[in-house]
Amino acid sequence: MSTPLSVYLPFNRDVLGRAFEPAKRGDPPPEAQGLWLLVQDQHLVVVPDGGAFALPRGRVPDGLDSMVKDPFWLGTYHGMPCFAASLPKDAALPPGLAREPLVPMRGTRLPDDLLSLGGMAMQALWWESTSGFCPRCGGPTTRIEGEWGKRCPRCHYEHYPHLHPAVIILVRDGDRVLLARKAEWAPGRYALVAGFVDNGESLEGAVAREVKEEVGVDVKDVHYVGSQNWPFPSQIMLGFVASYAGGELRVDRSELDDACWFPCDQLPNRPSRHSIAGFILEHYARPAAP
Ligand SMILES: [Zn+2]
Repeated sequence: MSTPLSVYLPFNRDVLGRAFEPAKRGDPPPEAQGLWLLVQDQHLVVVPDGGAFALPRGRVPDGLDSMVKDPFWLGTYHGMPCFAASLPKDAALPPGLAREPLVPMRGTRLPDDLLSLGGMAMQALWWESTSGFCPRCGGPTTRIEGEWGKRCPRCHYEHYPHLHPAVIILVRDGDRVLLARKAEWAPGRYALVAGFVDNGESLEGAVAREVKEEVGVDVKDVHYVGSQNWPFPSQIMLGFVASYAGGELRVDRSELDDACWFPCDQLPNRPSRHSIAGFILEHYARPAAP
């Protein structure tokens, strides 16, 4: 068996394999008929089918046509064009449709393929809502056909979605790992130190700086272990493991509620399996081999 290209995590487009074909530059959008990725307040609109969920398909679902204007064409899934559109937060759904959370921490029940498609739709719609005007001259922009990009007809500037890199780090020291928690998380839940990469900084530099700033310790032997696209609203989470290299644990209370060393065999309440934090803890928070 060959080694997979990337870690298997929802929101990574690889989860969809070859079934998903992104739209290509210059392709005119097809007729608005196919699969619908309708997003309402970080929920995906689905057709419940016993314990499973399907996407609405065909034309815009009856009762929603007045709310779905100018849908965003993402590409095709199993040969069917996929369109994203957002619905107003308080809009009632027609019978036969329901909404399911896309946010893992809110206990999503969606399967990984729908999370990945729904996450892409969320990013496209976020971009759509923030790219209506040219950042250079302030004029209204138009879509570049088949792409997420926008063009300014007035000054000809083209701009593209912003993806924000963030590092997420497991610090290890023998049989113990350093975990942190934020005040807004569920009681008892700990996860990893994380933060955005600054301009002018390497990923390794960001790892060392974030750990030092948030928990006061130094790290060495920094290794990349995988990544996850995170559509809340547009991050790419870059996962690392690092070894403790010295320094006193000192929690930055402006960022964190707490941070502690935990023995690998006594980890607290873990993050969801849907997140790269859960993946890193599952695979790398292990006691050293005897
Ligand atoms: Zn312009």
